[in-house]
Amino acid sequence: MSGRTRTDFLIVAPPACAPSEPPSGAFLLAAALRARGLEAVLLDLSLEFYMGIFESGGDGQVSKALEFLRGVRGGFTPQNHRTACGFLHRSLAAESLRTGWRTTLMDLEPPTGNHSPSRILAICEEGSAPFGDLYERVLDPALDELKPREVLVSVSYLSQLAGAIDAVKHISRRGIPTTAGGSLLNSLKETGEGSVELGGALGRIEYGDGGSLAGIDPRESMLGHLRWPLTTGRTDYISPRPVVPFALSTGCFWNRCLFCPDRTQPFRRVGPDALVSLLEDAPREFSSKRPVIHLLDSALAPGFLDQALPSLRAAGAAFYGFARPSRDILEGDLLEKAAESGCAMLQFGVESADGRLLDTFCKGTDPGTSGEAVRRAAGLGIRTYCYFLFGLPGEDAQSRIETVDFIERHAAEIDYANISVFNMPVNCELAERAGEFGIRPAHRLRGGDRIRLYLPFTTSGESPRHEVRRFMSEARASNPGLRSILTRTPRWFRAAHLAMLEIDGRRDVLG
Ligand code: SF4
Repeated sequence: MSGRTRTDFLIVAPPACAPSEPPSGAFLLAAALRARGLEAVLLDLSLEFYMGIFESGGDGQVSKALEFLRGVRGGFTPQNHRTACGFLHRSLAAESLRTGWRTTLMDLEPPTGNHSPSRILAICEEGSAPFGDLYERVLDPALDELKPREVLVSVSYLSQLAGAIDAVKHISRRGIPTTAGGSLLNSLKETGEGSVELGGALGRIEYGDGGSLAGIDPRESMLGHLRWPLTTGRTDYISPRPVVPFALSTGCFWNRCLFCPDRTQPFRRVGPDALVSLLEDAPREFSSKRPVIHLLDSALAPGFLDQALPSLRAAGAAFYGFARPSRDILEGDLLEKAAESGCAMLQFGVESADGRLLDTFCKGTDPGTSGEAVRRAAGLGIRTYCYFLFGLPGEDAQSRIETVDFIERHAAEIDYANISVFNMPVNCELAERAGEFGIRPAHRLRGGDRIRLYLPFTTSGESPRHEVRRFMSEARASNPGLRSILTRTPRWFRAAHLAMLEIDGRRDVLG
């Protein structure tokens, strides 16, 4: 990127987020700003951070693991994946010991934890954050060369918060204005807890989708027009095929689940035209590697998916994303057409096999239909990644048993599972109507020095979390189907790699 004059924006994704694909928020912001004629350049400091660790402290095993995870060695099976991730983690564990910052492939936590912006700021001011080499090697040269008018620091995950606070401090010291934004900050704004401390640590914060940076009308979707973003620094993500984040919609077309924290986002369509224009000017060396499209939609709206299939198929790309396992995804031959157009994996929010609980929380799905969606998708060679949620208020032992029975019944069709214990979002309808459901939320910490996305609660004087954990460990021991699904499900890199792994009976993505 030589011979540059002044760049409008340098968009920085701070450590740490998964190094398998571009950070979606920062990537799409750079693509949307570029489509509006602004010169916005993306720098993925998180990828640089991980590769700095792997390349400096790594041994031969780490290099081999990286080659495997980039698809060079073949045999991209869940078992080999687990072994390769083990080597990377050995290197990250050594780094954690050296710095005192807990570092994994999807997390970075300072000694203070990640929930107190002012305590994180204090340790960054002491100079004990582990990014000095990263700034010297990557960030400072980029700032010197690009001379950005402003640096946008994109914070999508809690694991990026400490990295963001330190990066803002470093860039501000150089006299360059910064603005922080991103989905984590948007969510925290809704909770209102710790937001003053967040402002103190991050300086200027811009909420929303970034449209104001380009003077876009707030009623218009920022993602409606995209061009391939300019980048600086490395883009050799740890993945067998490159991954492109994209969304066919923002918000959720269902938008009714009582425990959903995202219901304030308006539902908007993003046309497939934006995908076409995004991929049209992607570098040739990138397109020739047949990218995998990560559809970021909260839930793929069946009509929008149907309309986008020709563009997805034309891109020659495989794709994956979240779909509601409800009647509408089963309508007509939508699943068949999706499979033929490259659908590699669908992520289904099954949640529970207790229909009464699903109705109580307005999930709009039922166990029979979920089972049919999983069966049909698997039969078409689409990988299925099912999400189960235990510990919902009102769940009893029988509900849990029914859900485990569902998993056992569909063990040949469920490729991966995510089992989580319900956490009540601070910002959701259920928290507002807690009393109706016999929920006693813990005291809210207004104005405290802690950010908070979830609210501890009890029902009938108890927290369901301990009981659910005990139940799940017993269920795993006594249910071979559940055990084999959980063994197959990689712990690291999650969805992008899961969509590409070799699974018997599912479509080949890498061949
Ligand atoms: S389907 Fe998902 S995104 Fe949509 S309302 Fe329910 S929980 Fe929220």
